[in-house]
Amino acid sequence: MEADKIAENLKKIKEDIYESEIKAGREKGSVKLCAVSKFHPEESVRFAMNAGQFLFGENRVQEAYAKFTSINETADVKPELHIIGSLQTNKVKKAVEIASCIQSVDRISLAEEIQKQCEKLSKKINVFLEIHTGEESKSGFASEDEVMKTAEMFASGKFPLLTLSGLMTMAPFTNDERAVRSSFVTLRNLREKLNVRFPSLSVTELSMGMSGDFKLAVEEGSTMVRIGTAIFGERDYNA
Ligand SMILES: *Cc1c(COP(=O)(O)O)cnc(C)c1O
Repeated sequence: MEADKIAENLKKIKEDIYESEIKAGREKGSVKLCAVSKFHPEESVRFAMNAGQFLFGENRVQEAYAKFTSINETADVKPELHIIGSLQTNKVKKAVEIASCIQSVDRISLAEEIQKQCEKLSKKINVFLEIHTGEESKSGFASEDEVMKTAEMFASGKFPLLTLSGLMTMAPFTNDERAVRSSFVTLRNLREKLNVRFPSLSVTELSMGMSGDFKLAVEEGSTMVRIGTAIFGERDYNA
């Protein structure tokens, strides 16, 4: 996609986010925008950076590693990268090397592996727990007990190089607004429960909302929307 079009899309999305913030009585600028550049070329990321966007999300580590190491070599201001897709254990090393946050922690063994790789690199990293909140999304913690058990491990210092700073979810892909909202409300309520039970952790971020549902997500308290298609256009999965 052309540079002008990407800049224009970014501007439009930001305006929409502001509008939803106002509508929900939230402070203007309280929602972060993570631009999801998966399946789009390095050039598109550079165009977005030229338009002032510096937070990106990718879901395939191999692809992200190639794109972002190259960008980091030449960029004056380095972009921040979040891994948002399900992460295999053998990809954790590379993920930790390039990302500042892994939003898709969906099992304890993954947190353990991230901790191990962070030790090797003497690096600290932010993580979000991915939560299964909608019937159709398959990934993420499905039981609240599991989430509490995992959070307890963080609170007791089992992962000293990891900061548990948020929760992430994908709402079901449906036109049923109630089902989508319900998914977002579930995530928000879970953050409340975590903060009550583990005040020593500071779980603040709610990563929820994509191209099709980000306005609802902002109304329901999202602090970070992850938007791909509405910025970069349709993905070509055969590329
Ligand atoms: C691809 C993806 C997005 C962005 O989806 P769009 O509908 O293109 O905005 C957001 N979150 C996750 C986890 C994704 O995999």
